[in-house]
Amino acid sequence: MQHHDLLGGCPLSDLSYRVELTPPDIEPYRAGNTGIDYVTRFTAAEPGPHVLVTALTHGNEICGAIALDRLFRAEVRPRRGTLTLAFDNVAAYREFDVRYPIASRYVDEDFNRLWSPALLDGPRRSVELDRARTLRPVVDAADFLLDLHSMQYATAPLMLAGLLPRSRALARRVGIPELIMCDAGHAAGPRMRDYGGFGDPASPKTALLIECGQHWERRAAEVAIDVMLRFLIALDIVSRDDVAALGGPDFDATPRQRVIEVTEAVTISGEHFDFAADYRGLEVLPEKGSLIGRDDGREVRTPYDNCVLIMPSRRLVKGQTAVRLGRYVE
Ligand SMILES: [Zn+2]
Repeated sequence: MQHHDLLGGCPLSDLSYRVELTPPDIEPYRAGNTGIDYVTRFTAAEPGPHVLVTALTHGNEICGAIALDRLFRAEVRPRRGTLTLAFDNVAAYREFDVRYPIASRYVDEDFNRLWSPALLDGPRRSVELDRARTLRPVVDAADFLLDLHSMQYATAPLMLAGLLPRSRALARRVGIPELIMCDAGHAAGPRMRDYGGFGDPASPKTALLIECGQHWERRAAEVAIDVMLRFLIALDIVSRDDVAALGGPDFDATPRQRVIEVTEAVTISGEHFDFAADYRGLEVLPEKGSLIGRDDGREVRTPYDNCVLIMPSRRLVKGQTAVRLGRYVE
């Protein structure tokens, strides 16, 4: 039952992606060294920023767990500052089942829609809220955050840089992937990458969220590893030579990076949302007024020419984001 609920009406037979990645055993990282399960911290003698890399914010996005596992196994340590590695929604990850790979995104609710002080300080409880409250001091302590994700459809990797110029600048220093998306998040609730100082124009704290590719394609793990390594190099936490042996196909890539500014999210207001076509993401609809879909029969159309469709959802549930709309600005 639960599997079908989470699919929001999407039949299992529609899931045509092969699971090419093997979920790593993260039990060795449970104890950690911070007093919080699945959170490990390494501190260098030389002072420097506190950098946090997180995986499994969504339990079925296993490329991030593979990247952290790789870093742990290579015994990479920061040359300066502090490096904290965290597996977020472990409860959902434990439910990962290759037969129902989409079902383990979360247990009770989306961990990445809970990051407002009001919700975190509030009385409501869920598996994800409990975990977010436990991890909150870890996120509070970080100066820089990279949150490793993957997507439902096999489209090009996307760096989600939020709205602040300093995040966009850091995405350019990381240098991959080619596409940087500047967006405000979701009506359903704030993401970890927008929480506290990370979303505050007056704070120096800077966060990035990488969507590495389709959830279970081999390529997503390669992107996760290379983006993570280049993020750590950009912040001078490790040197290039420290981690060159771990690098994959994008370790030395220098693509021309393009920026998509997200202008709005299409939030589902009705009981039934249908897309007008089988959108996979990054389609550019040339003409203003093109039909995107129907929300309880109400037509949703593109608000301007050359509108880019970003990450159309397969989970078409009232209150959630169906798709985001944007345009190329750089
Ligand atoms: Zn995700």
